Amino acid sequence: MDECIFCQIASGKMESFKVYEDDDSFAFLDIHPAAPGHTLVVPKKHTADIFDIDEISLRRLAGSLRHIASKIKNAIGSDIMIMQNNGRAAGQIVDHIHFHVIPRTEGDGIGLMRGMAELTKEQMEEIQNKIKEASSDD
Ligand code: AMP
Ligand code: ZN
Repeated sequence: MDECIFCQIASGKMESFKVYEDDDSFAFLDIHPAAPGHTLVVPKKHTADIFDIDEISLRRLAGSLRHIASKIKNAIGSDIMIMQNNGRAAGQIVDHIHFHVIPRTEGDGIGLMRGMAELTKEQMEEIQNKIKEASSDD
C-alpha cells in the first residue's frame, strides 16, 4: 500500500522515532503523543483493522505489544493503557491496524469517558442478548 503512512514508515520511506522492530512488527513514537512515550505498535504487513488481520498475525502482534508495553513501563516508570480503534466513529484515522501504548500517571487526565450510557436493567439485558445472539465474521 504505497499511500499508507504506516507502510511508508515500515519500508523506511518515511521517518519515524522507531523504538522496536522484529520480523513481523515494529513500534514508533506517536507524532501527537497523549503522554511522553506514547507509542504505536504496528504489523509490517498492511491490514486495515482488527477484522482484517488474520489470527496468527494478531497473536504475533499481541506478543510484540506486551513486550513493548513492558519496555515502556520500565523506561517511563508508569502504568500503561492500551487502546486500538476500528472505524471512524471509534477514532481510527490511519487505516493500518495499530495499538496505542500510552504511559499513564496518577491524575494525568487521560481516559475513557465512563458512565456516558447508563442503562436500566432491562436495557442491559436487551443489549446482552443482542450481543450473545449476534453472528461473528471471525
Ligand atoms: P488512530 O486515531 O487510532 O488511527 O491513531 C493514529 C495515530 O497515528 C494518531 O495518534 C497520530 O498522531 C499518529 N500518526 C499519524 N501519522 C504519524 C506519523 N507519521 N508518525 C507517528 N505517528 C503518526
Ligand atoms: Zn499500511
